[in-house]
Amino acid sequence: MRKISVFGATGSIGESTFDLLMAQGGPAAYDVVALSGGRNVARLAQQARALRADLAVTAFEDCLPALRAALAGSGVEAAAGPHALIEAAHRPADWVMSAIVGAAGLAPGFAALSQGSVLALANKESLVTAGPLLMAEARAHGATILPVDSEHSAIFQGLVGEEISAVERVIITASGGAFRDWPLERLARATVEEASNHPNWNMGQRITIDSASMFNKALEVIEAKEFFGFAPEAIEVLVHPQSIVHSLVGFHDGGLMAHMGVPDMRHAIGYALNWPERMPLPVAKLDLAAIGSLDFRAPDPERFPALRLAREVMEIGGLAGAVFNAAKERALDLFLEKRIGFLDMARLVEAVLSEMSARDGLGKDAHNLDMVLDCDAEARARASAICEQGR
Ligand code: NDP
Ligand code: MG
Repeated sequence: MRKISVFGATGSIGESTFDLLMAQGGPAAYDVVALSGGRNVARLAQQARALRADLAVTAFEDCLPALRAALAGSGVEAAAGPHALIEAAHRPADWVMSAIVGAAGLAPGFAALSQGSVLALANKESLVTAGPLLMAEARAHGATILPVDSEHSAIFQGLVGEEISAVERVIITASGGAFRDWPLERLARATVEEASNHPNWNMGQRITIDSASMFNKALEVIEAKEFFGFAPEAIEVLVHPQSIVHSLVGFHDGGLMAHMGVPDMRHAIGYALNWPERMPLPVAKLDLAAIGSLDFRAPDPERFPALRLAREVMEIGGLAGAVFNAAKERALDLFLEKRIGFLDMARLVEAVLSEMSARDGLGKDAHNLDMVLDCDAEARARASAICEQGR
């Protein structure tokens, strides 16, 4: 039986992964090593019981008593805290889902690679903050990273059987998020509630707001560079409101391979789960006749400064991705706390990036995770300080 661990099991990607594991035989088909969650320990315990996991880990120490109580009599071991997450990721597994949200997902994913497993990577922040380190760790231990982000899964599928040298461009599609048709003046007043409603995809709150600001797409452009090794200028972004075409690969003979499907993350997760095979999945069939037409348009750089910032980050290289992501995470916290407006998020990220890029060595690659995490902490602190000064 395949040994499986799921980090971030209680989140949106985690729940879809849980669904697929249950649909594909549950505890009779998989030997579940570890499941992790955050504050939702009741749900984590339910999942651990249903999948008969060896271990359930909450990221937060103060949640341990509640987790222990919820697991009483189940035989599932309970643990808590960032170190317990890393210890869990070191337990041998053949397939590990990395679906913690934010930079907190970096260290557990990194630890999973060290035991040579397949890492199904939803946590794009890992590649944005520490792409070269992560890819080198995978190579060093013979581990395989499979993309779970729908766009990158689409590109990965489009590349099967192709020579990477024949690829001229990739086109990452973007729905445009909750505010794609809003006038710029109105965006300044957009609320947390308004930004938390994605028109097509049902996702966690943070990535949903990142979709509205296009920070999600900015992270994905960097993710594509780090994962596939494409040159920044070969990576294009195209707004496609229906979210049916998940991305395209363009070859030097002019051909474009588009990956299409309904917007349901269980496709990309299931592809990674069953790779290199394809298995039937509980995903709706796409009815193109019912949809009728598909629209595409270029993203408006004025409305989406995040995309320009992603280009700057790739130009600087090295630790700039860690700064960008951390400043973005802090800006999002401040927006969620209603301390800054929707458009202030990009301004704040740009200010942190410009302060820190003046520093020596930002463009140099990190030698280890600690360098990335230090940079992450400094960027968050600077974002908080700039926000305070502006008040
Ligand atoms: P959610 O917010 O829905 O879930 C996040 C998961 O991480 C939960 O299990 C949560 O626990 C846990 N968690 C929260 N904080 C911490 C922490 N500090 N340390 C450890 N674990 C923590 O996120 P999503 O599922 O939407 O996204 C997960 C990842 O997948 C992100 O990197 C996102 O960018 C990526 N992704 C998501 C897509 C989607 O469709 N949702 C699509 C493509 C990529 P709890 O809820 O118990 O507190
Ligand atoms: Mg995506």
